[in-house]
Amino acid sequence: MDRIFAKKSLGQNFLKDEAVLKKIADTFAVTEKDLIVEIGPGKGALTKYLIQKKSSTLCYELDTRLKNILLSFDSEKCHFIFDDFLKRDLFKDIGNIDGNVYFIANIPYYITTPIITHILNSGLDVSGMTLLVQKEVALRFSAVPNTRDYGYFTVLLHHFFDVFLLFDVPNTSFDPPPKVTSSVVKLIRKKHIEIIDFSLFDSFLKRAFSQKRKTLRNNLGIHDFEKIIPILEKYDLPLTIRAEEVSYELFVEFFRKLV
Ligand code: SAM
Repeated sequence: MDRIFAKKSLGQNFLKDEAVLKKIADTFAVTEKDLIVEIGPGKGALTKYLIQKKSSTLCYELDTRLKNILLSFDSEKCHFIFDDFLKRDLFKDIGNIDGNVYFIANIPYYITTPIITHILNSGLDVSGMTLLVQKEVALRFSAVPNTRDYGYFTVLLHHFFDVFLLFDVPNTSFDPPPKVTSSVVKLIRKKHIEIIDFSLFDSFLKRAFSQKRKTLRNNLGIHDFEKIIPILEKYDLPLTIRAEEVSYELFVEFFRKLV
């Protein structure tokens, strides 16, 4: 076995439960034309299952100490980029491929939101993602309105994807074990997505949820709230509505009127 010690600063908690790894790798039925992208392959625990698929695989790893181990998986169908995923131009790296693009990864938890935002912002047409994340974060991703976990990122994700919480993974399945429980979430691209400017929608939602206790009207101070009153009336909703009470779909309607 190798002697590479796990770097906390890179979120290195290596998954060692083979049954879980296999289950994650099998979450999408892929074809030869498809591409699986793995962020943070580490020592290749998940990669070894991904490369058994018919599709091709592209992996991004920041830690060059892992180069020797990972390059043993390198082949015609599996390539590695040793760089910071967040700094890559994904459209340039991947571009328009014939098949579908899927992200399947046990990602470094400290950059979960930046990773997903980077993917959504890339212009890539992503068909789905299976991600192992912190349980607390998975609950936020799959939250419904009127619950504590419902927030701006929930709405943003649900604009693009149907979100499914698959199963939990105990911390004892990792080496070293993280302090938290983890969960596998699966995101499946919605069939009909209204095209909106990602950055504008992102800032709009952040503003709407900026102060949870305040009304939407208060949080959206800089916008002309009057414009969405007819929508609220149409759905019989109060003018004092708060962001956490607004459904994913309604946020898009509000955005269309206000931005
Ligand atoms: N996939 C492996 C597994 O399941 O055992 C490792 C998962 S570990 C949670 C996260 C991996 O992401 C580490 O290998 C770490 O070096 C890598 N990583 C951290 N930050 C990264 C970044 N910005 N870009 C690419 N990889 C990164």
